[in-house]
Amino acid sequence: VEARVPIPRQNLRVPGPTPVPQQVLDAQAAPLINHRGPEFSAIMKRVTPRLQYFFQTTSPVLTYPASGTGGQECALVNVFSPGDHVVAIIIGNFGTRLAKIATAFGLNVTKIEFAWGEAADPNVVESRLKEISDYRGVLITHNETSTGVTNDVKTLAEIVRRANPDALIVVDAVSSLSSLPLEMDPWDLDVVFTGSQKGWMIPPGIMMIAASERAWEAHKTSKLPRFYWDWSSTRKNLEASWQHPTTPPVSLFYALDEALEMMIAEGREEIFARHVKAGEYVRGRAQAMGLKLLSTDPRYASNTVTAIRTPAGIETKAILKKLREEDQIVLADGQDHMKGKMFRVGHLGYFTQTDLEQAMDAVETRLHELGYQA
Ligand code: PLP
Repeated sequence: VEARVPIPRQNLRVPGPTPVPQQVLDAQAAPLINHRGPEFSAIMKRVTPRLQYFFQTTSPVLTYPASGTGGQECALVNVFSPGDHVVAIIIGNFGTRLAKIATAFGLNVTKIEFAWGEAADPNVVESRLKEISDYRGVLITHNETSTGVTNDVKTLAEIVRRANPDALIVVDAVSSLSSLPLEMDPWDLDVVFTGSQKGWMIPPGIMMIAASERAWEAHKTSKLPRFYWDWSSTRKNLEASWQHPTTPPVSLFYALDEALEMMIAEGREEIFARHVKAGEYVRGRAQAMGLKLLSTDPRYASNTVTAIRTPAGIETKAILKKLREEDQIVLADGQDHMKGKMFRVGHLGYFTQTDLEQAMDAVETRLHELGYQA
């Protein structure tokens, strides 16, 4: 076997997993407890209303041991039935994945697709929805992590409601919730889910999901097969005993409990403001270097992740390698057809301005070393 080497300390600037504060890592290292005991219930009793506060919902927020993709599957199987017609609004890789999962489960999917780098244009969505009939749901990505673009979910949801008041609005908020404003109840969203490794300052492993009254009604008659993801049993356990139907990742809940304490202390609006500043800073630095963003319209540029086109003549792999090996700064490559053509800088969750400055200074230095001239 390969020799074990210490895990490096890096400036981890991928859009998830994101750095975890030392005090959260310390909390996570506490001894294990019984997940059927009073100590674990006490954690869930504290964590759940705080999650509702960040989701901006009075509905219960359910938690599952899972990644974000689990959230995508969980959202669909709990409210739809085989053959149901859904509209998928797609602006990148994760919107495509949600549509693929819907297809895999036998839903009839109509796509409204936009080019990578663009947000869903509300006028286009409105006119397309007029041509589409009998759909049960609309699938929307809040923040498209593959392109660094944030959709205007509030406006899109208003358009869907006008076009089809009963449609279920399913929102993938994996790389946005807790970092960018998203108001589940005020915007009348039906299913919203997120992942712990993004804005929540804890490791991967907890998926959080909430459903509106309308979605709970749909859940009662929805026929897609499910067992692990079944909301009814998860909610029943939460309401009866502040526990889960299966074994939860206990240590991650220690982490979530501590991270939420820090997030409440910082303040929800202050967290949003910190992310706005981060997005503006990273985009500003990239553009000042003469680099091109993938995002085509500044109104929709993401404040959790920035996608930068790799300049001509530079290999994406080479710049990422240099940054990782010489600066201990880790950025992400592009995905799917954009792999090798761009790189992404994550700025969500736990970071300081200095972390971002170091990353962008190093990008500038290493690009020039590789021959880049603005
Ligand atoms: N949806 C979005 C918007 C994401 O950013 C991601 C992951 O980056 C996912 C879904 C899938 O999450 P995971 O990789 O945790 O399964």
